[in-house]
Amino acid sequence: MYMMFNRVIVWFRNDLRVHDNAPLFNAVQKAKEVIPVYCFDPRNFSKMELGLEKTGNFRAKFLLEAVTDLSQNLRSLNGDLLLLKGKPEERLVDLALQIHADAIFFSEEVTSEEKEVEFKLEQHAWKQGIKTSSYWQSTLFHIQDLPFPIMQTPEVFTQFRKECEKFGKIQKPLPVPKRIPFPKEKFETIELPKLSTFGLKEPVKSTRSVLEFVGGETEGLGRLQAYFWERDQLKNYKETRNGLLGPDYSSKFSPWLAIGCLSPRIIYEEVKRYEKEREKNQSTYWLIFELIWRDYFRFISKKHGNKIFQLTGIKYKVEKYSRNESLFWKWAKGETGIPFIDANMRELNNSGFMSNRGRQNVASFLVNDLGMDWRWGAMYFESMLIDYDVCSNWGNWMYVAGVGNDPKDDRYFNTLRQAKNYDKKGEYIRHWIPELAAIPGFDIHQPFELPPSTLKGYGISLGVTYPHPLVKLKAWI
Ligand SMILES: Cc1cc2nc3c(=O)[nH]c(=O)nc-3n(C[C@H](O)[C@H](O)[C@H](O)COP(=O)(O)OP(=O)(O)OC[C@H]3O[C@@H](n4cnc5c(N)ncnc54)[C@H](O)[C@@H]3O)c2cc1C
Repeated sequence: MYMMFNRVIVWFRNDLRVHDNAPLFNAVQKAKEVIPVYCFDPRNFSKMELGLEKTGNFRAKFLLEAVTDLSQNLRSLNGDLLLLKGKPEERLVDLALQIHADAIFFSEEVTSEEKEVEFKLEQHAWKQGIKTSSYWQSTLFHIQDLPFPIMQTPEVFTQFRKECEKFGKIQKPLPVPKRIPFPKEKFETIELPKLSTFGLKEPVKSTRSVLEFVGGETEGLGRLQAYFWERDQLKNYKETRNGLLGPDYSSKFSPWLAIGCLSPRIIYEEVKRYEKEREKNQSTYWLIFELIWRDYFRFISKKHGNKIFQLTGIKYKVEKYSRNESLFWKWAKGETGIPFIDANMRELNNSGFMSNRGRQNVASFLVNDLGMDWRWGAMYFESMLIDYDVCSNWGNWMYVAGVGNDPKDDRYFNTLRQAKNYDKKGEYIRHWIPELAAIPGFDIHQPFELPPSTLKGYGISLGVTYPHPLVKLKAWI
């Protein structure tokens, strides 16, 4: 068979899997030899504003596990994974020169920091006569299969979804290569870094966490298998997806999707199989509906570029906002005195995860009740979330902050009403704020409404055992 290349480097980024992996699949088709590489970029482990770590310890641990798993999966295909540390745009080109690779294949990202690295890598490589090929992946709909040019991506989700569903197409996932033609040579590689290499501490395991998230394609596919087939939860998804407690109210695929341990197309294929073999209903469709939200934020980010990181978002609407650090940290630490907000923030801080319902509420509270710059909230999530995805995070924050592409003008979440709808008996609060546990029923959501003598009977004193509310909520039930 004619091979276009002798030796190709496959640079893994947020696509840490061997299934449905376009750069890997194409390299195996086009090259005599394929060298998979992962590069730890110190810039991803630096500090941001407010001293926040760009990658907090939950996500960093998950990433290290995913890289380990990828390397094992590649080995089982006769391949291997070389590890580098440094700026990918420099280190990969150095490696290509050193090992005489003729091309570097990788997947394309959409936001500025990642794009900048890609551009520089392409520039450096081409100057040295090394070719590069980038591949679109990570979305359900391939960019080339969208029924509109990217700059005409509909601003409103419903329109985007309807056009994609009607005129777009979803390609089949690419198969796992049968064998990686990895050369017999010995290559230099670094040892897998430890969390301490990045100045991070081992996260303390919380027994309260919804799930023990372990990074890697094997675990991601395992969760898919468990949620759909063993625990048979897909058929209930639409009814349970707004839950707050336990492993199965939603799929929990997000951490694996975020760094590409799972491809959305493999999930789609499994939904279709489930619909054939078990049941097809509103819930099975709804999981795909949510994956389309994910696509939507990715394409909107590509369309609008850096605007998604700006205060005015994509609406050019300047809001009044505050940057009061002390208020911000009270929110971040879960010390606002509003139990529904605090419980969610404690979940995030202790597990790296928070439900979608929780995210919407804490984001709205920060923006609408505390009047803060929404970007601080987005940055905090960037640091803390185990499933941080640049487009989904900043896109959703813009949406809640009212500077995104939401046709509704007001996205105010009435915290107490939300608490009543989604945690009527207060079980979620009891789970995350045990010091309030003695307060019965819904009252646990509003300790500030109870007389001090009643609270005393429960062993609670506001301002001592639990904070007074930081602000008066804009809306009360
Ligand atoms: C302020 C805010 C910040 C967010 N930040 C992120 C983030 O950094 N990373 C992230 O993956 N999601 C983010 N989301 C979206 C959503 O909350 C999570 O995807 C979801 O809670 C993950 O849990 P799950 O996998 O069980 O979701 P499920 O309900 O099982 O949904 C399945 C998949 O659909 C996608 N999805 C679901 N809801 C959304 C949504 N609103 N936007 C985009 N994709 C969605 C996710 O990939 C998810 O894994 C954010 C939402 C808000 C309101």
